[in-house]
Amino acid sequence: MRSLLAAKAWQWIALALAALGAAAAHAQGAPPIAIAARSEIVGRETRLAFTLQSCVSGEAYLLQNPSRAIVDLPEVNFQIDPAVGESEAQHKRSRRRRHAEPKAGLIESFRFGRLAPGKSRIVVDLTGPAAIVSLNCAPIPGAAELTLVLAPSTDAAFKAAARAGAKRQQAAEGPAPAPPAAPSEKPVIVIDPGHGGVDTGALGRDHAIEKFVVLDFAKALGAKLRASNHYRVVFTRDDDIFVPLGERVRIARRLNAALFVSIHADALASNGDDVTGATVYTVSDRASDAEAARIAEHENMADSAAGEEAKESASDVNDILFDLTRRETRAFSHVFARSLTDYFKVAARLNKNPRRSAGFVVLKAPDVPSVLLELGYLSNETDVADLTSPAWRDKASAQVAKAIDAFFARRLPDQPAAASADAALKATQSGGN
Ligand code: ZN
Repeated sequence: MRSLLAAKAWQWIALALAALGAAAAHAQGAPPIAIAARSEIVGRETRLAFTLQSCVSGEAYLLQNPSRAIVDLPEVNFQIDPAVGESEAQHKRSRRRRHAEPKAGLIESFRFGRLAPGKSRIVVDLTGPAAIVSLNCAPIPGAAELTLVLAPSTDAAFKAAARAGAKRQQAAEGPAPAPPAAPSEKPVIVIDPGHGGVDTGALGRDHAIEKFVVLDFAKALGAKLRASNHYRVVFTRDDDIFVPLGERVRIARRLNAALFVSIHADALASNGDDVTGATVYTVSDRASDAEAARIAEHENMADSAAGEEAKESASDVNDILFDLTRRETRAFSHVFARSLTDYFKVAARLNKNPRRSAGFVVLKAPDVPSVLLELGYLSNETDVADLTSPAWRDKASAQVAKAIDAFFARRLPDQPAAASADAALKATQSGGN
């Protein structure tokens, strides 16, 4: 009895301390603003310095495949053009008027942004094996400066440090929270705006940034679907935040989603002006063409762009039931892809080859029909003008909502799933796809 009372007392103390902590955090107010970033070479060291309103304490570590230095921070409000961290190749692609910082020494490129509520991250792509010399934040007149100092290292030392870095990141992450999966009478549609937070996605012309363009589109689409009252609409992110690819798939599976729609926009390094229009992708083991393979490879790099340690992907289960489910799911995905291009072309331009397939990680839920809609090319002038226009977004997202309505109208509830999938597959094949 006494121990129970003691436990109760501790619980109250813990609660009181937590409340105090929350009050203190609130008193501190908004996260500090970062206003500038620059890299410089001093002797054999390469330094990356961020100018902030006030000092923050961070943790720096290394990761491999690809070689990166990661700086994990409390939440920072980065008011800095992401182009400042672009590599030369990325800079050519985005064709921005403002020039990227010339980078040399150990830094190939760098990114920064929000990772999760209360957390931000800087990801530095390295040109070779490096060691972290220091991470310091010191006041400067009227502001503060966070400086990461890197020095060349040996391959062996870098690899050992990167293994330690991976362990550190895993330990800090802890188990993923399981959100409650409220049973829903209505079909659940998961809308997945690509990228977010520290992972900006494609940087396009006229300062268009993929993560913002696709979030705006996703919100417009979600509002239309919710207004119809036919669906339960769930977003993988509804804010400028990083969500790992695997987590996007898990959200859809946990909710038993009836449809998963990932929204993206691409940019090309060369001939960017000639290539235009939307493309709808489905998952396949073998890419439909070289361009689809390139896009899938690029989109699948989202986790590493955000400074996440590469995780072992679960090997595909060789189970006959799994295989049947997946085949049926893919048939539904194809049906929806066809419907989506048919409806989308009413309001927007399609790519000359608008239905393709490749091994997109985010489309791999075996039991959720999934498509990835690339809205257009941020490297193309007309596409950028469209994709950033509220009027275009309104009419184009209305067509996606219509395609979704048509898809669900066809999936009759009294038809056994396998039979309807079979019919769906036949319809797709006879359509000459
Ligand atoms: Zn993308």
